[in-house]
Amino acid sequence: MERIEVATRSRTQAIDITGQVQEVVSRSATKSGIVAVFSAHTTAGVTINENADPDVMSDVMEALARLVPRSGPYAHVEGNSDAHAKSGLVGHSVLVPVEDGKLELGTWQGIYFCEFDGPRRRQVVVQVLAAG
Ligand code: ZN
Repeated sequence: MERIEVATRSRTQAIDITGQVQEVVSRSATKSGIVAVFSAHTTAGVTINENADPDVMSDVMEALARLVPRSGPYAHVEGNSDAHAKSGLVGHSVLVPVEDGKLELGTWQGIYFCEFDGPRRRQVVVQVLAAG
């Protein structure tokens, strides 16, 4: 198991961590298996989406902002309920198959860490599970 450090720079931000996840898989020397990528935070998430056109992830983040407004009415006194709700919508983990030591992502897919209450220093847990 390894932790990827992610330093986010704004309140909401999607960061492509595909390369760092592949590095963990490569260091593990696992040829075939699965990798779990997990965000240990309640105001951030992990997802897979297109990494060819950067407008896609900015559109997704904007769509989430329209879906879950910054201001409530919310009860949570910390004032970041929108971030908690977006975190729940996006989810906290993804699983990606590994074959020949490589992430078996689709041609246009990348793994994204989604910040909803930054800027903060975040940690993403990456666990590689070898098959057989
Ligand atoms: Zn909170």
